[in-house]
Amino acid sequence: MATSSIEWTELTWNPTTGCDKVSAGCKFCYAEIMSRRLKAMGVEKYKDGFKVREHEAALMIPYSWKKPAMVFVNSMSDLFHKDVSLEFIQKVFAVMNANPHLIFQVLTKRSERLAEIHPQLQWTQNIWMGVSVEDERVIHRIDDLRKAPAAVRFLSCEPLIGPLKKLKLKGIDWVIVGGESGANPRPMKEEWATSIRDQCEKHDVAFFFKQWGGRNKKAAGRVLDGEYYDEFPTPNSKRFTCVTRWLFHPYWFLCAPAPNTFYHEHDTCSFLRELCHCLWSINETNKNPFQQLPAQWFMVLVRRECGARAVESPMRLVTFPDRLT
Ligand code: SF4
Repeated sequence: MATSSIEWTELTWNPTTGCDKVSAGCKFCYAEIMSRRLKAMGVEKYKDGFKVREHEAALMIPYSWKKPAMVFVNSMSDLFHKDVSLEFIQKVFAVMNANPHLIFQVLTKRSERLAEIHPQLQWTQNIWMGVSVEDERVIHRIDDLRKAPAAVRFLSCEPLIGPLKKLKLKGIDWVIVGGESGANPRPMKEEWATSIRDQCEKHDVAFFFKQWGGRNKKAAGRVLDGEYYDEFPTPNSKRFTCVTRWLFHPYWFLCAPAPNTFYHEHDTCSFLRELCHCLWSINETNKNPFQQLPAQWFMVLVRRECGARAVESPMRLVTFPDRLT
């Protein structure tokens, strides 16, 4: 299984590989370095190095992931690259459509193509669409992203190489910020990151601070202004109407047994995830999962927040779905 060390996802899936540089954020592209390394190691999938390639066989991989998870699509490429055919992009979307228990996080720098072809794609609620915004020169990507009818729209401001003082956050659900890492990283100023955090707070947009980066990113850590910021988006309820999808969403948990009882995720995470998996299995047998629950269970969906912020502020009650009985 392609587990990921990226803090805001769990698995990676690369139905395409290869790319070329499109803006300043690409300068020290990790995918390019890794592709060359994998080619040198003789890995078949990377035999053409960093040239854009479609991998039909990789389309089957998500069908083998039975448990709910968040999946980063194309960590080694850009799905909306001009050399990826519309037909293949539609196949990738069909796989995402057919696996509603997985959340697919698609990130692109080719926002113009996204804006152009999004009507020809099927946008199910488990597809989160994002654009990279590394500095003000590429801020137009946000307007392109807004055109796509994704359940969650997000910005990846990584590597953040300049200030973003006036982000247009209308219709945006989540912002990730991170500094550059590697041998010659361009520094990220603290005020750039705190400014984005403040704009997110003002507009009630989830904020995730991934890392400071630098030559030793582990040592630099991911504490910003004395806190960890590990927020995940709350899908727009109007666009996110299917209760079963809420239930099987890996970052929404079913809590029990009493109302007004909220748990910190570290106490309940594994138990609740097991429960969700169990319900998913029941659902696969076409029975109504809600009828399988003991009567005393009181179901509440809470937003997962972890780290210092969750300890300081109680989890937010998002919905109280009496429709679940
Ligand atoms: S768009 Fe992404 S994958 Fe492509 S060169 Fe730039 S950083 Fe690398």
